[in-house]
Amino acid sequence: PQGEACQHEGRSERAGVDGARSGDGTKPGHALRRKGKQEGKGRAMSGETVFVVEDNASNMKLVKALLLSAGYEVYTAEDAEEAQVKLATIHPQLILMDIQLPGMDGLALTRVLKEDPSTRDILVVALTAYAMKGDLQKALDAGCDGYITKPIDRLPFLSTIRGHLDAASLAG
Ligand code: MN
Repeated sequence: PQGEACQHEGRSERAGVDGARSGDGTKPGHALRRKGKQEGKGRAMSGETVFVVEDNASNMKLVKALLLSAGYEVYTAEDAEEAQVKLATIHPQLILMDIQLPGMDGLALTRVLKEDPSTRDILVVALTAYAMKGDLQKALDAGCDGYITKPIDRLPFLSTIRGHLDAASLAG
């Protein structure tokens, strides 16, 4: 069951909110508010799409499961080439970009995306194993809007993504 959510490529699963509603027939509103207080902060707004570029299968599985649990629509690619093909037809709000990829790396792909008028408005958040100041600066220099360091913790991960999306929607 937990792994099942990972099978649905590109489909969002909002088990939390819908489950609370149907599970409490008498006070659905109360159940929703309580749920929202606990984990509403990192949750997706309707239709928000996150594209994950990550070549490591276990990292991909974790990131995808966290995003789906928060209600995001999720698309994935294992390398820069696959990402470019898919981004020709999908326009996500945010890309989670692993920096270390086989072939073209995440920094090079970010530069390409930020130079292209059709993709430059997409937020790019780097996923990096390196917490070294110089590497994070390289990510920002390449055009990344922010970064998340591995290993990934659920709450800071989701609140960082939420923060970038909220900041971008305020900026217009
Ligand atoms: Mn990698």
